Amino acid sequence: MRTDYDVIVAGAGSFGMSAGYRLAREGRRVLLVDAGDPPHADGSHHGQTRIARTAYTMGAAYVKLAIRAMRLWKELEAESAALRASDETCAGPLFDPIGVVSIGPAGSPFIRRKTESCLAFGIPHRRMSAEQVRAEWPGLSVPDTMEGLYEPDAGVLYSERIVRVYRRLALRHGAELLVRTAALRIERAGAGHVVHTTSGSFAAKRVLVTGGAWAGRLLPELAEAVTPVRKPIGWFEAPADRYGRDALPAFIVNAGGDEEYFGFPDLDGGGLKIGRHDGGRIAEPDRPPEPFGAYADDEAELRRALDRFLPGVGRLLRGQVCLYERTPDESFLLGEVPGRKDVWFAGGGSGHGFKFASAVGESMSRALTAGPDGDELDWRTFSLEGVIQS
Ligand SMILES: Cc1cc2nc3c(=O)[nH]c(=O)nc-3n(C[C@H](O)[C@H](O)[C@H](O)COP(=O)(O)OP(=O)(O)OC[C@H]3O[C@@H](n4cnc5c(N)ncnc54)[C@H](O)[C@@H]3O)c2cc1C
Repeated sequence: MRTDYDVIVAGAGSFGMSAGYRLAREGRRVLLVDAGDPPHADGSHHGQTRIARTAYTMGAAYVKLAIRAMRLWKELEAESAALRASDETCAGPLFDPIGVVSIGPAGSPFIRRKTESCLAFGIPHRRMSAEQVRAEWPGLSVPDTMEGLYEPDAGVLYSERIVRVYRRLALRHGAELLVRTAALRIERAGAGHVVHTTSGSFAAKRVLVTGGAWAGRLLPELAEAVTPVRKPIGWFEAPADRYGRDALPAFIVNAGGDEEYFGFPDLDGGGLKIGRHDGGRIAEPDRPPEPFGAYADDEAELRRALDRFLPGVGRLLRGQVCLYERTPDESFLLGEVPGRKDVWFAGGGSGHGFKFASAVGESMSRALTAGPDGDELDWRTFSLEGVIQS
C-alpha cells in the first residue's frame, strides 16, 4: 500500500464515499479511511431509505444542488446497473420515484416557500387542499386547516445500498479503502498533509474530512458547529391497501412551528417507517447512542404522530437509532476549512443531506482537483467562514 496520495478522504459514508468514487473515477490517487465498515449503522446513512426531493425552502443554492443531485442519482443508477445485477449485496433500485407529499398548516411558510421554489425552477408539483389529500391517499388524516404539496418526480433513495455501490465503484476505479480505521489527527507536512490513523500515517496533497456527526473530533474547530443528535426511527405494521408502496408516497408532515415528521410507505413488507425531524437528544461523545426504546418517548412521540396523521397504522415492528449531524440553522458546510489550507470539509447535512450526496461528492471532487472555481457550486452559501471556533 502506498503512503502518498492526491487526496485522503477521512470518513467514507454518504458524502465521503461519493467524493471518493468521483475522485477515483477522475484518475486521482485517493485513500478512503473509515472508522466503521461502510455502509454501517454507526453514522447517519443507515435505516435503508432517505427522501429525495427538489422543492426546498432554504434558497436557490439548495434547489440547484438538489436538481443536480437528482440527475447524478439517475446516472449512478445507470452506471451501476450491471454491478447491481451481478452482485446480490447491491441488488435493487437506488432511487424509487414514488413521489413525496409535504403537508403543513394551510398558507404556512413551509408550504408556501416550497411552492415558490417549484415555480421558480419548473419543478413539477401539485398544491392540494386537505380534502384532495384525503381523497387521493385515504391512509392520511389531514384536518381542513392543513394543505399539501405533492412532488410527483420525488421519491426514495436507498441510502445503504448507495453507499455500498459507491464503495464498489470507487474501488473499481482504483481508490484504496481502510475500514475500521479512525483518522486521529491531520498535520501539515511540507506541501501537503499527514493523516495519522489507527492503522498508520498517510500523506496526501489534500484532505477531505467527511466524518459526519463526529467530524468535530477530527476538526475540533467544528465541534460547536456540528452537533450529533440521537434520532429514534420506527417501523410500524401497516395495511398495504392504504400504506403500501402503491398506496402512499413518502411524506413530510409539519404539524405547526418546528414540529416535523417524515416517513415512508411500507416498501417491502417491513413496515411503514416514521421519524421526527425536530428536537432530539444530543449524543454523548465516545459512546454509541442509547438504542431505540431506551427512552419511553422514542416510540410514544412517533405513535402520537401516527394516531394524528396516519391513524390506520398498527403496532411497532422495530426501531433503530441514527445520528443527525446538525448545524445551528441546518445549513450544510462545504468548503476549505479556514486556517487549514488544502483541508476541505463536507458535512452538516442536518438530517436532510443524503439526497445531495451525489452532487456534494462531485463538487468536492472538482474543488479538490481544480479549486472552487472548478465547480458551479455557490460556495458562499455553504462557507465555513463564521462557524469556526478559534
Ligand atoms: C434518521 C435519519 C433520517 C434522515 N432522513 C433523510 C432524508 O429523508 N433525506 C435526506 O436527504 N437526508 C436524510 N438524513 C440525513 C442524511 O442521511 C445525512 O445528512 C447524511 O447521511 C450525512 O452524510 P455524512 O457523509 O456527513 O455522514 P455519514 O454517512 O455518517 O458518514 C460519516 C462517516 O465518517 C466516519 N467517521 C467519523 N469519524 C471518523 C474518523 N475520525 N475517522 C474515520 N472515519 C470517521 C463514520 O464511520 C461514517 O461512515 C437523515 C438522517 C437520519 C439520521
